[in-house]
Amino acid sequence: MSDYRIPATRIVRRPENGGTPRRVEADIVVLGAGISGVSAALEAAKLGRKVALVDAGMQLGGQSTGSLLGTFCGFYSNGPQPYRVVYGIVDDMFAHLKREGAFHVRRGRNTFIPLYQEQALVRWIEQAVTAAGIKVVLGANLLDVQRDGGRIGGLALATRFGLVDLRGTGFIDASGDAALTYAAGFACREPEAPIMGTLMFILEGFDEDAAQKLDRWAVQKRLGEAGGRYGLVRRDGFVFAFPGKGQATVNMTHVETPLDPLGYARAQAEGRAQADRVVAFLRGEYPEVFGLARVRQYGLLGIRQTRWIVGRHSLGIDEVRQGIRPDDAVVRCAWPVELHDRAEDVHWEEFGDDHMHYVPFGSMVPEQADNLVAAGRCIDGDPAALSSVRVMGPCIAMGAAAAQALDLAGAGSVRQIDIRALQKRLADNLERCDRD
Ligand SMILES: Cc1cc2nc3c(=O)[nH]c(=O)nc-3n(C[C@H](O)[C@H](O)[C@H](O)COP(=O)(O)OP(=O)(O)OC[C@H]3O[C@@H](n4cnc5c(N)ncnc54)[C@H](O)[C@@H]3O)c2cc1C
Repeated sequence: MSDYRIPATRIVRRPENGGTPRRVEADIVVLGAGISGVSAALEAAKLGRKVALVDAGMQLGGQSTGSLLGTFCGFYSNGPQPYRVVYGIVDDMFAHLKREGAFHVRRGRNTFIPLYQEQALVRWIEQAVTAAGIKVVLGANLLDVQRDGGRIGGLALATRFGLVDLRGTGFIDASGDAALTYAAGFACREPEAPIMGTLMFILEGFDEDAAQKLDRWAVQKRLGEAGGRYGLVRRDGFVFAFPGKGQATVNMTHVETPLDPLGYARAQAEGRAQADRVVAFLRGEYPEVFGLARVRQYGLLGIRQTRWIVGRHSLGIDEVRQGIRPDDAVVRCAWPVELHDRAEDVHWEEFGDDHMHYVPFGSMVPEQADNLVAAGRCIDGDPAALSSVRVMGPCIAMGAAAAQALDLAGAGSVRQIDIRALQKRLADNLERCDRD
């Protein structure tokens, strides 16, 4: 008989009034812990602010870690010798990924596109957020927003472990779907026709050397010709292998992502079914490369553009195409227009070597809001303009801009901050041109 004691138990019952919500206080509250929210939270903490970071998911990083995106887009300018256009958290993040052997830069779309491994990124985010003393609430859904005119006072959250009453001075909507702005009753914008999402997945068991030699445009052509036989909805997309890891990320599905409580699960299952058909296509059409390939991991369904704020300014496609630098520019970016507005393919519009476009601060502030700033894929723009600034590079820069703006506003309004002072704080992201 082994020598052990059965642990004691006690009886518990939910209090009649449901229990008192756990009260949490912060200077800056960030809703959404995707790459925009993480950037905003770390930037605010660096400014000495008390920060709370909230997410409905059970891990940090949002789509950057959960949806297996695999590449960092919008971090560099265009041309033969691209320079970096985003700083802030990027130096530490890249250094960590390099140390972990989880970072590899490739050329594509007239710029640099670094590949990264999600597990290394999620660890960096956790370590950075912990070291910064940020209070993190995971698995937390937004139930209600306390709003008085243009000011938000607090958020009511529900977690599986109980309710949270989160109070703050400044708020950042980094939810991707403008969840905070919408719940606060500010106007939001939705596209009339859906912008497609994608379920990404990671393959293993294929011939890595042979995969490196595959011509991606020839694969696209084959998708167009033979995809129908495999029941594929989308007829473009790509497979990119992380060198030496025996893994490749596949971006070849298109699924609608409705803002509907039952819709997400349905769409995710549809995305996985499409992913399986993509594997059948790769095995069937390229048996010498993918004959033994299998899915190692399905990502969580990736959502591109669903609902976003109505800001003081809606970024337009002509401003993007012409590279207009507005007086209140806070972010720069050279990434193409990448509009997923139909099931069968993607509309790409690449820009020349000297091109740069900008996100104005006015596109990040909901009309009438005093202490709420949006960052990431839910800022205001037309669908095409938004598609060019919602990749991770500009998302990180928007997170930094939102934190700096709320820090400048203090107990006042972001509508009255000195934009020149804000731009001075964001000078790296607007002016610096390091060639890594
Ligand atoms: C399939 C796909 C592939 C992509 N590929 C690339 C790529 O290769 N490179 C690149 O740079 N970009 C890529 N993008 C674009 C990029 O991923 C996103 O636009 C970017 O990550 C958005 O970051 P975010 O922080 O704004 O939003 P998200 O990463 O979506 O984070 C939002 C967070 O808010 C949380 N949230 C939402 N609502 C609530 C709520 N009510 N309560 C609590 N929490 C909530 C969510 O759980 C989520 O974690 C891709 C996008 C998709 C969909």
